[in-house]
Amino acid sequence: MNKKHLIDNENTKNKVNEDLAQIILAGIEQTAVSIMITDVDGNLQYVNPAFEKATGYSLEEIRGKNPRILKSGWIPAEVFKDMWKTITSGKTWYGELINKRKDGSIYYEEARISPIMDKDGNITNYLGIKQDISKRKYLEEKLKQTSIRDPLTNVYNRGYVFERLYQHIELYKRKKNNFSLAIIDIDYFKQINDTYGHQVGDFILKEFAEILTCRIRAYDTLGRYGGEEFVILYHNADKETALKVLERTMKNLNDYSFKYGDQEINISFSCGIAHAMELDDDKISVESIVELADQRLYKAKEMGRNNIVIA
Ligand code: GH3
Ligand code: MG
Ligand code: MG
Repeated sequence: MNKKHLIDNENTKNKVNEDLAQIILAGIEQTAVSIMITDVDGNLQYVNPAFEKATGYSLEEIRGKNPRILKSGWIPAEVFKDMWKTITSGKTWYGELINKRKDGSIYYEEARISPIMDKDGNITNYLGIKQDISKRKYLEEKLKQTSIRDPLTNVYNRGYVFERLYQHIELYKRKKNNFSLAIIDIDYFKQINDTYGHQVGDFILKEFAEILTCRIRAYDTLGRYGGEEFVILYHNADKETALKVLERTMKNLNDYSFKYGDQEINISFSCGIAHAMELDDDKISVESIVELADQRLYKAKEMGRNNIVIA
């Protein structure tokens, strides 16, 4: 092989590499995945158009800045510490981040951040490859809510209430965290359905659930126990406290008419309340406390309804 041939060969190889680099760059510019490259100090040198679109920052305005301008404050400092420890030690970090766009809105992303090294093994840059997963997070949360909520009234469903009740009992056993359980049943609900129709019955259930929702504290749990039965877990409350709140609700309800079209409908409820301390530690269980509240609800019905029984 003569010398000229060698040089030609070298040129061709360079040309091929250059062409390939152009194609790779086009791919980076066109991909929907966010790509960012920082220098060894973590200052941004390059971001691709997908990054610009995801964050609202252009390459010009973000160049030289630290990616911490995307911080939302929703990620604990330890996560970033772990990230830096991982990448400065030459390994790739994977994780989920909650970031803030230029306009202040929040988004979730799945990130993979790797160190780039020269041939001697020194870190020269960091490469971040990130994907917006906000939609997935939103759907996951929606699915979770669907699985714990009653579709008609949007209060918690029976399964979730039982789970919470179980947790309350465990906490009570270990830390003596008090709680009361109220079971509420709408009086003569069958008559409402029979007189006005099922649709009106559904409407009353929704409205009634809303009234109850407005009257509990943020850390109490309200759920639909069955057809026209609701339960409330009053956290850190004795029977008298729960009774006071429910008596007020009962009185307001007695003075109130639900309006459906031009129909006015009055309802009342009966209620039984039980308190954790009424049961011995070895006897307290989801079943035993529900049974106690249920017996009292039955008593309230026998007394003529529109009653609350606590003993
Ligand atoms: P009581 O005063 O003894 O509680 O009488 P009641 O009629 O309320 O009790 P009962 O348990 O006999 O009837 C409950 C009714 O609730 C029967 C059922 O048709 C109705 N129901 C249960 N679930 C729903 C629902 O999702 N929508 C409607 N509209 N009605 C329901
Ligand atoms: Mg009932
Ligand atoms: Mg009823």
